[in-house]
Amino acid sequence: MAQRVCIIGGGVIGLATAYALVRDGAEVTVVEARDSLGSETSFANGGQLSYRYVAPLADAGVPLQAIGWMLRGDSPLKLRPRFDPAQWRWMASFLGACRSSVNRANAAHLLRLALFSQSTLKHWREDDALGGFNWRRNGKLVTFRETASFDHARAGLADPQQQQVLSAAECAQLEPALADAPFVGAIYTPDEEVGDCHAFCQQLAARLRASGRCEFRLGQAVTAIHHNQGAVNAIELGDEVLPVEQLVIAAGHRSPLLALPGLDLPLYPLKGYSLTVPIGPEHRAPELSITDYNRKIVYARIGEQLRVAAMVDIVGFDAALDPKRLALIKRQARDTFAQAGDYDAAVEWAGMRPATPSGVPLLGATAYRNLWLNLGHGALGFTLACGSAQVLSELIGQRRPSIDLQGFTPRAA
Ligand SMILES: Cc1cc2nc3c(=O)[nH]c(=O)nc-3n(C[C@H](O)[C@H](O)[C@H](O)COP(=O)(O)OP(=O)(O)OC[C@H]3O[C@@H](n4cnc5c(N)ncnc54)[C@H](O)[C@@H]3O)c2cc1C
Repeated sequence: MAQRVCIIGGGVIGLATAYALVRDGAEVTVVEARDSLGSETSFANGGQLSYRYVAPLADAGVPLQAIGWMLRGDSPLKLRPRFDPAQWRWMASFLGACRSSVNRANAAHLLRLALFSQSTLKHWREDDALGGFNWRRNGKLVTFRETASFDHARAGLADPQQQQVLSAAECAQLEPALADAPFVGAIYTPDEEVGDCHAFCQQLAARLRASGRCEFRLGQAVTAIHHNQGAVNAIELGDEVLPVEQLVIAAGHRSPLLALPGLDLPLYPLKGYSLTVPIGPEHRAPELSITDYNRKIVYARIGEQLRVAAMVDIVGFDAALDPKRLALIKRQARDTFAQAGDYDAAVEWAGMRPATPSGVPLLGATAYRNLWLNLGHGALGFTLACGSAQVLSELIGQRRPSIDLQGFTPRAA
């Protein structure tokens, strides 16, 4: 008999999970608090499918660097301390995860999942003809403004077989939009990809609807999870109680609100912003994805738009647009790629990355025998969605997961 699985959350993670499960023969219900799918953090993210740049934010040099950043007006990081134990607990764990050995281990876990995610998306694109989300294998340049950081990066390539070190002149030859940009060099990874995450969500939803094996409950927030004797048995949707057989939490940065006794969900929202800049025939936008390493800004051409994304603001659950932060991104983007698009017509957006302190998502079984987690993908949710979904589907179907899940297993509280 087919597995019946309920998924809380209709972002890229919940939808990819539903897709993998339906592909594997399950019957799925997706419960989404909003009236539309993929409309929270998965809506206008950076668009980079960044398979080989997965090193977690928590790294040895970061605490010191963060102090320096916060003294600057143009800092990519903003911290507003709050009387919020969750924020302090998260920061303390984050500092613990900054140790070099921990960072290296977590980067290895993320790389394993990212490469599996790339091959899973390839299967879905090719075997199922899944398209319509401006996917391209456009390659990526991580560009450096300072020699010291460039030298450090070239000495520690994540995948030397797949990556090339380029001089400033070689960068400009490969990507003419960089001709006037002030970079000393770059690391080039040819097989990185790009896509529109929101359009991807819509495509997955359309396939799920067409399958006849997926029900969507939109505009319904899960307010509680019922459990008994080590298993979950129902979810509350306001006045309604919906029985569940298998349950997946994929509710992004709000997942901790659904925590149960014995279930530790150490997530905190890291707010970021994006600009979606229209590109006309008169503009010269980069074709390759660009990560401006020193300014921590990413650029990705998605069809006829340039997506510019940046900033890590640790400011609680306030998702409002901050005009100062957006103006800074716009100024820095203009300064780097003056001709790339019509910045005056840019659409502004803010989103909350669902971040664990270590940067490694929580993926897999819990102490409740039919409750599963797929959450906490931080800055890499689009990149990791397909692989995380496929692995979870394998676990729920009691099959051996395609990758070693060491490092991802949810902790007991
Ligand atoms: C500025 C920025 C740039 C980024 N750039 C990239 C990038 O280039 N590449 C990349 O890979 N990633 C990027 N990311 C990260 C990526 O966007 C996220 O990791 C990803 O969208 C998280 O997906 P999700 O499904 O977990 O969360 P969401 O998309 O937030 O989905 C969770 C859903 O759960 C629903 N929900 C919550 N609580 C409940 C409840 N109680 N009941 C029912 N539904 C509920 C919400 O309404 C929401 O729709 C970026 C993020 C930001 C903010």
